[in-house]
Amino acid sequence: MSFSLKQRVLVVEDDARMLALVCQGLREVGHTPMPASDGEAGLELAMRLTFDSIVLDLGLPARDGCSVARAIKSHRTVPILMLTARDGEEDILRGFDHGADDYLTKPFSFRELLARLDGLGRAAARHTARLRVDPARQLVYRNEVPIQLTRNEYLLLAALHRHSGSPVDRHTLMEAVWQDPRVISANALEVLVNALRAKFDAPFSTKLLVTVRGVGYRLQSSADDPAEPDRRQAS
Ligand code: CA
Repeated sequence: MSFSLKQRVLVVEDDARMLALVCQGLREVGHTPMPASDGEAGLELAMRLTFDSIVLDLGLPARDGCSVARAIKSHRTVPILMLTARDGEEDILRGFDHGADDYLTKPFSFRELLARLDGLGRAAARHTARLRVDPARQLVYRNEVPIQLTRNEYLLLAALHRHSGSPVDRHTLMEAVWQDPRVISANALEVLVNALRAKFDAPFSTKLLVTVRGVGYRLQSSADDPAEPDRRQAS
């Protein structure tokens, strides 16, 4: 068995020993775990940082796993693996209802946990495979067509890509690009979005960069992007 996709994993678990063991195990196989010991802390981290997957205990103090999963899924597309000490079918179904993508019943083997995370990671990677970003060169590949971006265009696209499929508000985008948005002019974001659209969307028949009225922008999931370069526009 190989676990080739290295992931940033948020681990939310109130049992301190279990939390330490899971994080240590994840580190040993090359993942980057971030621990949280209650539901509120986990939710705060999930909203503030970017993760490839989340391991979420069902029974948590402060805020239970279902409530945390629901809150995360209303803003993020990140896959969630729910841990449950109970094996009641009702609990498991409740977890799925609230946004868990997979579940494991305690006690579980660590290999099983890794296999499940790998499965979730691969599914997510397939979902976005038609869009690849190369941070070192500020390049994005859309259906394997390389598109060279400026630094700011790249930062904007990367911020949208992190929340792929969900709306991202203007303030978050401006912070991602300029750190201190107070120093830039009011329409700087629109100017940058237009520049990005000209390179990233205009040559393709499917437009992925969508304006969300009153909020900001959204990068459509590219999973069903049939995009061939649009010959009519190119001529
Ligand atoms: Ca627990």
